[in-house]
Amino acid sequence: MCGVFGIANHPEAANLTYLGLHALQHRGQESAGVVTSEGGTLHAVRKMGLVADVFSKEQLGSLRGSVGIGHVRYSTAGGSLPKNVQPLTAEYRHGAVALAHNGNLVNAELLRTKLEAEGAIFSSNSDTEVILQLMARCNETTLAGRLAWALARVKGAYSLVMTSEDRLLVARDPHGFRPLILGRMRTSPHAYVVASETCAFDLIEAERIRDIEPGEVLTIDGDQLVSQHLPPAPPRFCVFEHVYFARPDSRLDDQGVYDLRIRMGARLAQEAPVEADMVIPVPDSGVVAALGYSRASGIPFELGLIRNHYVGRTFIEPKDSIRNFGVKLKLNPVPGLLEGKRVVVVDDSIVRGTTSRKIVKMIRDAGALEVHVRISSPPVKSPCFYGIDTPTRAELIANSHSPAEIARYITADSAAYLSSEGLAEAVREGAERRFCDACFTGDYPIPFDPPTHRRQLRLVEF
Ligand code: AMP
Repeated sequence: MCGVFGIANHPEAANLTYLGLHALQHRGQESAGVVTSEGGTLHAVRKMGLVADVFSKEQLGSLRGSVGIGHVRYSTAGGSLPKNVQPLTAEYRHGAVALAHNGNLVNAELLRTKLEAEGAIFSSNSDTEVILQLMARCNETTLAGRLAWALARVKGAYSLVMTSEDRLLVARDPHGFRPLILGRMRTSPHAYVVASETCAFDLIEAERIRDIEPGEVLTIDGDQLVSQHLPPAPPRFCVFEHVYFARPDSRLDDQGVYDLRIRMGARLAQEAPVEADMVIPVPDSGVVAALGYSRASGIPFELGLIRNHYVGRTFIEPKDSIRNFGVKLKLNPVPGLLEGKRVVVVDDSIVRGTTSRKIVKMIRDAGALEVHVRISSPPVKSPCFYGIDTPTRAELIANSHSPAEIARYITADSAAYLSSEGLAEAVREGAERRFCDACFTGDYPIPFDPPTHRRQLRLVEF
């Protein structure tokens, strides 16, 4: 989970990257950073925090150059620490280089151990740094050649933007796990942009050209675009991007996420109907699927729960007297609306079950007669190793409990999930495309070695 952005050939590269990161903020809220390239010099501003808090006007003004890359982070590999804030930067014998990454490498630990045995010193514990270390060891003469050489040695999920030598380099792993899209500024057609999601293009008035292809390493050097390709692999785009992660106004694979989620909700209504007085979403993740459920079932849609959008991380002392205020801080039922009603509550997924349990209680406390939980994706049974933050298998409630047992645990009158076939139909719409759905099926496209995939922190700095 992270968002990346890149731009080339634009005098406002820093400001446009900053705006693009705002649009990608939902992909990561832990840290943000922008690096621009001006001749051989890189300028960087990176910090822990939200995009709006990380950059001052003066700092943005100091980011000179016509090439920019940016990153918002939600840590899935390496701790949430200043040393892991991206874009990562390094200096090596070919100059300065900056790299931003969305996805998880599954062999980073193995490679790191090998590189350390050869004398490498790492300055972060992010899996991304392995790519820079490999590039430094490569004797290819071009930047793209060094990047492709390094990428041929890593395994896993990566959508990358890199800048060095006044160029923008963009790459996507051969399975194409995470999204990455190429566009151009409408007002300045020589200015190319790349972003994790098209909602970043909409904000800065860029138009989508195409997806970066799985396995593509694209160099943008002035007006020249040159692609090379890594050895091919079966496409495995992450289906959870459609279910939860992407913003509903984005287009993934040139399909609108909003429409897909409407279809998921509609299909859920067919598969798991229930007599009720209203359909309410868990905001914001369940809103579009709930609308689809409501349209297909004819049961009225209501915004029964209101989310407070201004709550960031909260630190509530675990005292019994105030412990339960935590969820109320984020969500509150509309007084009177749910009283005496049979309610269908729709969310996109259940992970540990703790959120659903609190929400069901809240809806009952607000006077609902019945609470039926409907989930617009299949049960999450297996952890993700390719960039979505999921707890261990043992913590995933659906791994060890049936929907009926989950209903009992979350104290709902019933609980039902969208079937795998239902999800496949909703996202495919006729086209035969293969997704990575390992979180639902346990079918992992790239094998990994579970004991080595998490690393002990050795240097902790806040
Ligand atoms: P839980 O309480 O653990 O069952 O969490 C379920 C809630 O977390 C749902 O409202 C989901 O929208 C949301 N969710 C699902 N996947 C993730 C994720 N990887 N990171 C953060 N939230 C998630």
